[in-house]
Amino acid sequence: MHELMLMPDGRLHIYFMDVGQGDSALIITPSGKQIIIDGGPAEGSALAEISKHMPFFDRTIDMLVLSHPHLDHLFAFPEILRRYRVGRVLMTGEQATLPRYQEFLGLIKEQRIPILLADPTKDIDFGDGITLDIVWPKPNLFGSTSDGNNTSVMLRILTASGSIFFSGDAEEPEERAALISGADLSATILKVGHHGSKTSSGTGFLLAIQPSTGVISAGKKNQFGHPHAVILNRFKGLGIPLRATAWEGMIEVEF
Ligand SMILES: [Zn+2]
Repeated sequence: MHELMLMPDGRLHIYFMDVGQGDSALIITPSGKQIIIDGGPAEGSALAEISKHMPFFDRTIDMLVLSHPHLDHLFAFPEILRRYRVGRVLMTGEQATLPRYQEFLGLIKEQRIPILLADPTKDIDFGDGITLDIVWPKPNLFGSTSDGNNTSVMLRILTASGSIFFSGDAEEPEERAALISGADLSATILKVGHHGSKTSSGTGFLLAIQPSTGVISAGKKNQFGHPHAVILNRFKGLGIPLRATAWEGMIEVEF
C-alpha cells in the first residue's frame, strides 16, 4: 500500500483484523491516532496485520485496550509494547496468572505506561469528536469472578456519524448486567461478542444495541464452531446483516 494512503484522511477507520480464532481491531481516528482493541491469538500475527495500516515512520500507538486477559485477545500485546511507544493501556486490572499476561504487565510497568482501569463513569475523549464510552463492567466487579469472559470491557466508540460497540467475550450474564445498568447501548456496528458463540448475543441485548451490521471475529474452521448456527439465525431473525473475518478476511469500516 502506498504510504500516502496511510495518512490521516479526516475519517474514522476500523479494521477488524484477520487474526484467526481471536480478536484484534485497529481504530484510526480522523487525525491519525491509533487505538488497538485486543491483540489476537498466538497463531494470528496481529502485529504484522496492524503494521500494514500504519505509516512506517509512525512508532506510536495512543492506546491499547485489553478486553480481558485471555490468550486469544492478548497475544501480540507484549510485542507491540516492544515495537511501538504506547501512550496508555485500558483494561480491567483483573488478576490472572497467564504467563503472556504477566509479561504484558511487566512491560507496562517497565515502560511506565499509564493504566486506565475501565470505569463506566469515566469516558475518554480522543478529540476529533471521538469518544470512548465505557459501558461495563463496574470497577468493583474486578477480581470477583474467575471467568474472564464476563469481566470483558464493553465500550462504544462514538462519532458524529456512527458508533461501534465492542464487548470482548462477554456472555449473557454480563450482557444482562449492562442492560440492567440502564446505559445507552445503541450502536451502528456491533463487534459480535465472544466470536459468535451461542453463550453471547442475547436477544434483549441485541434489541438494545440495534446495530445495522454485526461483525464477527473468528477463525476459519475453528475448533469451537464459532460462529454458532443459533447466533446466525438470531441475527437473521432480527434482520441484522452479519460479516465475519472467517468468511472474508480483514473487514474495514469507516465513518
Ligand atoms: Zn475470545
